[in-house]
Amino acid sequence: MTGAAHTLCVVTWPGFNPTDPEVRALFETAKVGVDFRPKVGPRSADEVADIMAGASAAVVSTDPFDSTVFERLPLLRVIARTGVGLDSIDLEAATRAGVVVTRTSGAHEETVADHAMALMLAAVRRVVENDGSVRRGRWERAGSLTPWGLHGRCVGIVGLGRIGSAVARRLHGFDCEVIGFDPYVQAARGVAPVTLDQLFYRADIVSLHVPLTPETRGLVDAHRLGSMRPGAILVNTSRGELVNEAALVDALTSRLLRAAALDVFADEPPLTPRLLELPNVVLSPHIAGFTAESVRELTLQAVTSALDVLASRPNARIVNPEALTHERQTPVQ
Ligand code: NAD
Repeated sequence: MTGAAHTLCVVTWPGFNPTDPEVRALFETAKVGVDFRPKVGPRSADEVADIMAGASAAVVSTDPFDSTVFERLPLLRVIARTGVGLDSIDLEAATRAGVVVTRTSGAHEETVADHAMALMLAAVRRVVENDGSVRRGRWERAGSLTPWGLHGRCVGIVGLGRIGSAVARRLHGFDCEVIGFDPYVQAARGVAPVTLDQLFYRADIVSLHVPLTPETRGLVDAHRLGSMRPGAILVNTSRGELVNEAALVDALTSRLLRAAALDVFADEPPLTPRLLELPNVVLSPHIAGFTAESVRELTLQAVTSALDVLASRPNARIVNPEALTHERQTPVQ
């Protein structure tokens, strides 16, 4: 979907469908050309700068943008992020460079909370291991693959924002005792506030719902894992870097932890090979926020935001409006 237009938008968001008529029409009306370079694995800031050369707009998921990228991309005016986490973008550097950053909005919390529950239940009920056993022709109704139960368990939620609260609501339907830690908000209804130490010490299942920040990076390290109840379960739908993966693999191998259920990883992909070898891990490819409908909605929101910024139209999804006051070079149309 490239065009003769001077202004270029590079899209690396893999959910982008270049043949979607509505998306095409948006770009054509704005006379903005598109270069679709889907992200299939981690990219360095250097690679991002290479891919984005000549771009005025970027529609991205988690590609990294730091000050070096902004220096190399003098035309870049807007980064439209599909999703809510901003840990891959140096927001201060973007603002200083006059690059506007937008993110998407909507009911992502319900979808991510559904997925956290799906992973939690799959791990607790050992769905994947039993599925594999049945496919291998076995019928093991008692023995090494006997599941556990979720009802009545104590579940600890780290981060009681939109997703954490949505998970708590679902857990009440399972008659779980829900405890939570979030120093920045009041605990949601039905969630007993505890310290982080108490949470890891008491919970049968810990579910992570905090953003990746300098404070939360490596939050779940060998020490924290060692403080969990024997046979506890860890669920992570937030960010891979919250967890020390090597320590997690050790805890799962030694069966200190019963299981882990992970949607997010330190590298996406390739995953730590030892994680793939463990039977007591349930994996998904960072899809907790996706439904068929939401992928298209995220695309439309991000594209609209990018084109709004290029056309100097107001947009409510801008996270650093101060960047609008900095001038950047704009190609002549
Ligand atoms: P949110 O901002 O509504 O909630 C995050 C909560 O974490 C806030 O209440 C905040 O006070 C709390 N928090 C911050 N630092 C903390 C700390 N050190 N200890 C405890 N709590 C802390 O965000 P959200 O919409 O609930 O999303 C949470 C995270 O989920 C996002 O930042 C993103 O990384 C992740 N996410 C993942 C997917 C996916 O596809 N897997 C999709 C959407 C979001």
